[in-house]
Amino acid sequence: MAKDTAGPLRLLRETHEERVLAVLRTEGAMTRAQLTEQTGLSRATLSSIVQDLLAADALTETAADDGTSRGRGRPVTVLTLNPAGGLALGMDLGHRAVQVTVANVAHEIVGTTGIACSERTTWARRLELAISLAESLAAQHSISLSALSGVGVGVVGPVGHASRSSRAQLVRDGLNERFGVPVYVDNNTRLAGLGEAIWGAGAGLRNVLYLRLSYGVGSGLVLDGHLFSGAGGAAGELGHVSVDPEWPRCPCGGTGCLERYVSLSAVLEQCGVRSFDEVLELLTAGDERVHEVIATAGGRIGQVLATACNTVNPETVVIGGELAEAGAPLLDPIRATVRKYTHSQVRQGLEIVPATLGHDDAARGGIALVLRRSALLAGYPAATGPGSRDRVHDIG
Ligand SMILES: [Zn+2]
Repeated sequence: MAKDTAGPLRLLRETHEERVLAVLRTEGAMTRAQLTEQTGLSRATLSSIVQDLLAADALTETAADDGTSRGRGRPVTVLTLNPAGGLALGMDLGHRAVQVTVANVAHEIVGTTGIACSERTTWARRLELAISLAESLAAQHSISLSALSGVGVGVVGPVGHASRSSRAQLVRDGLNERFGVPVYVDNNTRLAGLGEAIWGAGAGLRNVLYLRLSYGVGSGLVLDGHLFSGAGGAAGELGHVSVDPEWPRCPCGGTGCLERYVSLSAVLEQCGVRSFDEVLELLTAGDERVHEVIATAGGRIGQVLATACNTVNPETVVIGGELAEAGAPLLDPIRATVRKYTHSQVRQGLEIVPATLGHDDAARGGIALVLRRSALLAGYPAATGPGSRDRVHDIG
């Protein structure tokens, strides 16, 4: 690592690399001369950067076939991003599933795959599953994991700055040993929020509150373009806001936490069914009791959300997790309650929308961490439009 600590010079060089990659990403194949013109870099600087990017497999070089090659001198070649180079791996080690997604240097998702696990599955086993999923993805798409720039991983529970938690450490060490690249670990709900704010329902916005309604209830905050984690990595624990100070007790140590009322398990119990598919069928069939359970849950969620909205004033609230699949019977009471309990300026223009990414939301958030940090791939997510470039915050 010692050679990487050249300070400002290194940062300057990364910025130049970003410029070269951004031009190739948006304009496509180019000759060195065209790249020099487009980037405004000197020929010597450009040449040295291109040489390094070629050596790192981030670019490929082919002979120009458009008549620009003339008979004499060095043949003219064109440079393009190497879709098989500079890969970023995103992983989500969740309560009940492990998901792995891979993206290439052009910010395209190459593939994603997942496997169910039990809540009792050990973290070491989840890690093994994630590694073998990554290997099978690589085989399936004929890509080499030796071209990996980094791995971004979501895990369950709070993960703070430079977290020393045993779970985060186990994951970091295991992946580092297997792939030999930087590994970034964060809370998986927060990463799902990041994924939605970049690729999903909150794309292009600077203030997004993501709420996940699943077996656990939690949120991810993108505030003024930055993913917000808080002093101890526990920002956004909306599932543990008390909606009844008397009861019931919650494993977090509190009483009457929102999660105890509106988690997937709580809703299944209240509806007297065993799977959420049954809840959806009963909703479609117009079952009054189930409609009431969902509406009551929506009201409670709305109350907690209203307080959160009054606190951070988001442009959009994105609702994810299985419960969001209930659609209008859940979202309408949430919207009505938030409207009722928010300041007029907070609710003005506020949208409450369902999440649009699927099972790989947190894995995509992991990819965003890698793309933002890698010297080769920084500048992310330029591909989604102007103004969104600084959205991803270095979480440390
Ligand atoms: Zn609690």
